[in-house]
Amino acid sequence: MAGIALGLPTFGAAPGGPATTACSPAPGLPAGMPHTADRPDAPGLIDRYGRTATDLRISLTDRCNLRCTYCMPAEGLDWLPGTEVLDDAELLRLITIGVEHLGITELRFTGGEPLLRKGVESIIAGAAALSPRPQMSMTTNGLGLTRRAEGLAAAGLDRLNVSLDTMTPDTFTRLTRRPRHADVINGLAAAAAAGLTPVKVNAVLMRGVNDHEAVDLLTFCLEHGYELRFIEQMPLDAQHGWARSEMITAEEILEHLGARYRLSPHTAPRGGAPAELFDVDGGPATVGVIGSVTRPFCGDCDRTRLTADGQIRSCLFATTETDLRVLLRTGVPDEEIAQAWRGAMWEKLPGHGINDPAFLQPDRPMSSIGG
Ligand code: SF4
Repeated sequence: MAGIALGLPTFGAAPGGPATTACSPAPGLPAGMPHTADRPDAPGLIDRYGRTATDLRISLTDRCNLRCTYCMPAEGLDWLPGTEVLDDAELLRLITIGVEHLGITELRFTGGEPLLRKGVESIIAGAAALSPRPQMSMTTNGLGLTRRAEGLAAAGLDRLNVSLDTMTPDTFTRLTRRPRHADVINGLAAAAAAGLTPVKVNAVLMRGVNDHEAVDLLTFCLEHGYELRFIEQMPLDAQHGWARSEMITAEEILEHLGARYRLSPHTAPRGGAPAELFDVDGGPATVGVIGSVTRPFCGDCDRTRLTADGQIRSCLFATTETDLRVLLRTGVPDEEIAQAWRGAMWEKLPGHGINDPAFLQPDRPMSSIGG
């Protein structure tokens, strides 16, 4: 077992991936040994560790109308050239291949900010017409929801996750560099009124900024019937400025909440869901904690990701990508595209590797991958 002490891959782990052993996988990693033989001839998006991806996360654009400090610099980023971004027909073709050939049953539209993508409603309507119809959700910063919620629901969107890190307008402006707190609050109400439920709220706590607001955020969500999810800050910012010491851990979040609420583990099976759920004061209301760093859940991961410029990422933290855009634009048939996608997922690493000394933060930032 010497290799582990040195942080080197020991047995069956892919180069650069976290070390695993035959007997006791690291917490949150797939149990058992990776398949070392050739990929079996299976239609779905399987990987060497026996996981199957059925949840497709689609970044519709890398652009955003907020400038969250833990995501990008105030001046924004060099956005993807328009010529490299998939057009609606290309995007729908890949969604169709995913649903009809690869066993995708869930779609999550993300960004950047997905509502900045022109024609998002027609993309949703096109996906809703597929058979079997995929479940569809969106992760949004909420700006624009007061105008768009009804149309998104009419197009076929099932539900939303809205990002909200604070109940204080000044702190919101400090965190996002935009004075738009009221628009998010009103956007949440519009989403609920449009039936895009359950409305889930995603919150990231930053040490010394908004970490004192955990109870206030939960109280607000309980009062409005929103399902709150706290997410540990991850090393995916464009500035590469993430520091573990600044991250509020899952343990700390539960401690903060425990000062006001009685939390008990939710008994329903978790499956591949990122959030660890807790009943609040005996339920039925719950709160979720997504401990990506300190409580990883890669062992049951069922996600595959498509970027706005047509790249497949087998993991949020992948450092390699598979280019489907070039295949789309060189007239390759659907089955060959499906095969390339299967190949990309077969090589998925056991986990994100953040807790591994050899961890490399991906070049592509979160704003261009999507949640
Ligand atoms: S870090 Fe990667 S493997 Fe782990 S849960 Fe997220 S996408 Fe899946």
